[in-house]
Amino acid sequence: MVSVISGMNAASQLEENLRVASNPVALDDDDRALADEVARFFHARMPVACTTCGYCLPCPAGVAIPEVLSTYNTASMFENQAGPRFAYDAFLVKAGSGGDQCTECAECEPKCPQNIPIIEMLAQAHAHLTGP
Ligand code: SF4
Ligand code: SF4
Repeated sequence: MVSVISGMNAASQLEENLRVASNPVALDDDDRALADEVARFFHARMPVACTTCGYCLPCPAGVAIPEVLSTYNTASMFENQAGPRFAYDAFLVKAGSGGDQCTECAECEPKCPQNIPIIEMLAQAHAHLTGP
């Protein structure tokens, strides 16, 4: 299926989003304001606007770009650094798909609908998740 909507690459995802959009939970104005406030709070703490859509893949060097960037976001959004650091080392670095494997070939960056400077963000993510 050809993707035309950022963040969706399967019919099932489109159907699920349409289902949710057509059946809004009965939120009042206060609920919506609170939800917006919570969303703004967490978005402000995210260093990378990655939606984990995967359009940047495949990486010829095997970097798991969405997973690396989402782990970086998780580590930054919450006060728990230990969990994301452990997961990054155990499931990405040791598997040879961490940000440290990037060869800076730049194949991925033009494919990103969010225009994320992926090379720079991977280096930041790796430093954040492995540094002191
Ligand atoms: S720039 Fe790095 S992450 Fe992007 S495709 Fe090349 S090796 Fe992979
Ligand atoms: S870096 Fe860009 S293309 Fe890759 S998963 Fe994140 S938002 Fe999608």
